[in-house]
Amino acid sequence: MGDLPIPASLHDCPVVESRPVGSYRLVSFVAREVAALARPGQFLMVRAAGYSLDPLLPRPLGVHDIDSDLVKILIEPVGRGTMSLASLRVGDRLSVLGPLGNGFSLTGAGPALIVGGGIGAAPLTLLARALAERGRHTECLLGFKTRGQAVAAELFRNADVEVFTEDGSMGSEGLISEPLPECLRRMEAAEIFACGPDPMLAAVARTARDCGASAQVSVAAHMACGVGACQGCVIKTRDGYRRACSDGPVFPAEEIAW
Ligand SMILES: Cc1cc2nc3c(=O)[nH]c(=O)nc-3n(C[C@H](O)[C@H](O)[C@H](O)COP(=O)(O)OP(=O)(O)OC[C@H]3O[C@@H](n4cnc5c(N)ncnc54)[C@H](O)[C@@H]3O)c2cc1C
Repeated sequence: MGDLPIPASLHDCPVVESRPVGSYRLVSFVAREVAALARPGQFLMVRAAGYSLDPLLPRPLGVHDIDSDLVKILIEPVGRGTMSLASLRVGDRLSVLGPLGNGFSLTGAGPALIVGGGIGAAPLTLLARALAERGRHTECLLGFKTRGQAVAAELFRNADVEVFTEDGSMGSEGLISEPLPECLRRMEAAEIFACGPDPMLAAVARTARDCGASAQVSVAAHMACGVGACQGCVIKTRDGYRRACSDGPVFPAEEIAW
């Protein structure tokens, strides 16, 4: 299965900011090398540094933003790993492996439609900026369950963002798959960049196919090593099984066997 895993660098990083953003937590840490190398859509394997081995394995988190030599991650606390990361405070240290994965391909031209669902929006801020810097007209559709998560849309600073919540507590009520076909018709020949839960990505892939649009999707498979060694994160594609961590996490939507 593919090449041997690429050795990635392990970094010991001091936390310089930790603050709530609705029900998520934004953590910034100093990581000069990661900040210099990371591309939109790449991820890091992150765990709290120190003597505790609980949890033993680091967790994959997207690179949310980069500011000089600071790297930012946006955390949704859902279990042991993410809760321990969300409880870190200024001065604590993180163990960070990365940047990892392929990231989004930015070689296209023309308009771009970013589609983010829930915490899947986390790595899309860096992408929105990179697309804007390339002079591409970019619009973002962000969907969340409720307002507590949707306030994270404020992190997309100067981007053109439309927010949807399932309960209507912020933005428009509904799923982002609903306005997608109309958006694609309006933004002629837009390329889609999506990250979110599998059902959302599958809906994006279907709509892209029906509308003749090309789409790149970032999948959130469970990962143990993050570097292609354990093969615990394989996903089924039309080309056989591929590792989400080292062959992805970004794939052309039509390659995945939904
Ligand atoms: C490439 C990539 C980028 C990611 N980026 C971010 C990010 O920027 N911010 C963020 O908060 N999370 C992100 N995630 C998801 C995050 O890695 C998981 O939520 C985390 O590993 C869960 O670990 P835990 O110990 O907190 O929870 P666990 O106790 O391991 O799991 C808690 C619950 O979450 C479910 N779960 C665990 N991992 C995943 C997953 N990958 N996808 C869907 N459900 C899962 C479990 O089935 C369980 O129900 C990303 C995942 C990937 C693969």
